[in-house]
Amino acid sequence: MREEQPVPPANEASSPKGKRPPLKKKKARPKVVAAANTIFDLVINSFAACARCSYFFTGYRVLHEEEQIQQQIAQSGDTWLKLTGSYQVLNLLHTSFGREITADLVKYQLCCPDCLRLFNYEAQAPDHSLLLVQLDPQKR
Ligand SMILES: [Zn+2]
Repeated sequence: MREEQPVPPANEASSPKGKRPPLKKKKARPKVVAAANTIFDLVINSFAACARCSYFFTGYRVLHEEEQIQQQIAQSGDTWLKLTGSYQVLNLLHTSFGREITADLVKYQLCCPDCLRLFNYEAQAPDHSLLLVQLDPQKR
């Protein structure tokens, strides 16, 4: 019969008991700072602060060309972002904020229940609608 001898860990002999090699200090990670270099970034960051508004704006970005949105942001004032309305945008407002908006309405105002951002929908012509979105819901 063979007696099993406990095998000492390989490094136990070299390092004194109770002393462990010092833990490597974790390198301080660079803080993730949202890049807000352009007006476009500022607008995107402002939507990111609210889950519902962020959902809406992400959906809007899927529906429209990035170039078009950049142009719309550039042409907007400090208070309102002028976006294009459409049946799809109405649907997006519905899924984002849970309020059914019928397409035959000429004007519609909506307020985000979470951040109180205002949305003004205005049908200007059969094939052209305007959606004004408040840029900074904190400003009243
Ligand atoms: Zn919101």
